[in-house]
Amino acid sequence: MNAIFERLRELFQLFFPETCEVCGNSLRYGEHILCTDCLLDVPKIHLHNLEHNPVENIFAGQVPFVRATSFFNYQKHTEYAHLVHKLKYRNRDDIGILLGELFGVELQKSGFLSDIDAIVPIPLHRKRERKRGYNQSRILAEGISNVTNIAILDNAVIRAVHTQTQTRKSKEERAKNVEGIFEIRDASLLEGKHILILDDVITTGATCISCAETILRQSNVKAVSFASIALAQR
Ligand SMILES: [Zn+2]
Repeated sequence: MNAIFERLRELFQLFFPETCEVCGNSLRYGEHILCTDCLLDVPKIHLHNLEHNPVENIFAGQVPFVRATSFFNYQKHTEYAHLVHKLKYRNRDDIGILLGELFGVELQKSGFLSDIDAIVPIPLHRKRERKRGYNQSRILAEGISNVTNIAILDNAVIRAVHTQTQTRKSKEERAKNVEGIFEIRDASLLEGKHILILDDVITTGATCISCAETILRQSNVKAVSFASIALAQR
């Protein structure tokens, strides 16, 4: 029965091949979600350990942190930006796992993760998570964890306040919008640890800063660092 099913799947693939989420070309054997060319073309940032990289500059002077980085540059209306959109709004958690894994491999190689003890994905408010079916930052964290074995803490911090979307808000409005929205649920999980706060897209950094402030103020955390899959420069 399984052999027949497998044969049917192969036939289906022959007539309806899986296509690359970026360029739309048919994927070849062994390719998954992105073709090799588009994988090589990801507009990566590559500055994980560079002090004063563009991501660190966003957080500098705002909150105490060790380091910060992102995987790629988010340019509106590009197919790479659409990957994040599909992860957030089109139920494509498989894209999030892949992006997380690619990012994880890179972070691991760069040494960025050398003293990170656990990842805290930016929590969604439970209402939004229920509507979406998952927390996209948690999915990205799963991808990173798959290739690094770093633990994910998704019960330590919660988002207690349901906020409006941050898009189309100024830097000041964004900061105000997310002020005090996070709460610690279990401080013991954070104690003595260097935590990597992970978001999907960093724009002004307001959400990450708010989450870090809550963690730093209300737990005995050792330190925090920041990472995101995409960096949207304004
Ligand atoms: Zn492609």
